[in-house]
Formats: sequence, structure tokens, C-alpha cells
Amino acid sequence: MSAAPTERHAALAAIRARADACRRCAIGHTRTNIVCGVGNPFSPLVIVGEGPGENEDRQGEPFVGRAGELLTRMLAAIGLRREDVFITNTIKCRATVEENGRIANRAPSPEEMSNCREYLDAELDVVAPRIILALGAPAAKSFLGRDFSITRQRGIWYPGPQGTQIMVTFHPAYILRQTGGNMAAVKRLVWADLQAVRAKLDALADQPAGSPPAGATQPAIAAPSPGEVTQAPDGPVALRLDLS
Ligand code: SF4
Repeated sequence: MSAAPTERHAALAAIRARADACRRCAIGHTRTNIVCGVGNPFSPLVIVGEGPGENEDRQGEPFVGRAGELLTRMLAAIGLRREDVFITNTIKCRATVEENGRIANRAPSPEEMSNCREYLDAELDVVAPRIILALGAPAAKSFLGRDFSITRQRGIWYPGPQGTQIMVTFHPAYILRQTGGNMAAVKRLVWADLQAVRAKLDALADQPAGSPPAGATQPAIAAPSPGEVTQAPDGPVALRLDLS
């Protein structure tokens, strides 16, 4: 049975309705569906990717398709279910480019990210997370500035908006583009970042900040039970994220 609607659900629906009517960027006219955040509006963790791709545009939901499956497995590796967290993007329309006669995804432009920031900020206002996990360079730059280097500066906690703390790691789509030793190396880095998020969630669960709104408790996200995440030479991410 689905959860009863709450004020946060209603507020998120209102944000979606505003974004649905938005045509501030050219991509607002070419999208199939608006893609706003989904998941638990009481989650202490919000995951922010760069923007919808082809599958997300078609289905109207963030992180579907292979990258979405990988994100689900990344979360499972630290004992989280997809529905426990809130998942969104920096922009709500699919950014595209024509390549060899076909429409391909592209990274959002700074102007599109700036135009769309009000919707991301509104989602963060409603969910009020303690932690933001930014996936990929565009999402990281949207919070930490355009000079942010994901290869040099990921894996460190940064102060974020509204008292949040931000961790940056690689986007699942980037992981999927790697091969051989590169993929193993990237997975090890991602696993370290995910473990840091898990540890921070556990630490914050012991130090609640303020009272939750009436009628709504911010659910504790259960840590994986002993043995559930099995250490291995490559780390559990290497085991669990193997798509072959
Ligand atoms: S990307 Fe955001 S700001 Fe631009 S048209 Fe879409 S909803 Fe509006």
C-alpha cells in the first residue's frame, strides 16, 4: 500500500506542475516528458544527477535504464533501497544534440542549469536532506562551482545548501562507459565514496537535527546487516556492479 499523501508530496507535485509548464529553455519544447525528482520526500539523502536521458525522457522518471539499474545496485551495496532515497537531476528536460542524423544526449549547458536551478532548489527545500550525493561532474559543478574537478576533488565532504553536506562521485553512466582496468579502478573509487555516505548517514542518525514535521518521521535508513555487504579484493561494488 502506498504512503498517504503528505504536505511534502503535495509540494513536490506543485513543483512538477510548474516545471511541466516551463519552456524557459529550447529543450523545454523538445522534451517528451518533464523529469522531476522521485522517491522518499523524508529521506536524509538526496541523489542529484545531471539530467534526463532518452529513457528518462520517455518514462518521465529519473535514473531508469542501465544507468538507473546500476544506481539501484550502488544503493543496495550500502544497504539502501531506491525507494528509501530521493532521486533527482540538475535539469528537468532532456538536453539533446543531433549527431549523424540521430538525436543523442548531451550534458546540460550552464544556462540550462541556471534556468532550472529554481526547481532543484525547490525540491531540496521540500525534502530538506542532510546529505546530497552528486553524481557526475555537471551535478557537482552545479553545487561546487564550474572549476570543480571530479577526478581530483571527489570523495571529500563539502558544505552544501541549507546545511547539507555534499559527496561527489562518478555518474553510473560514466562507470558503464569504462572498460577493463579503468572500470575496476572507477568502481573502487565509487565504492569508497558510497561507504563514506553510509558512514555519514549512520553518524547523522545518532545526531538528529531538529524535530521532523508533525505526522512525518524522517525514516532511519537501516544499515546493511553483518555479512550482507561482503568485502572482496575489488570491494562489493565490483561484485555487485558487474553487469556482464
Ligand atoms: S530545463 Fe528546466 S528551466 Fe529549462 S525548460 Fe526545462 S524545466 Fe524549464
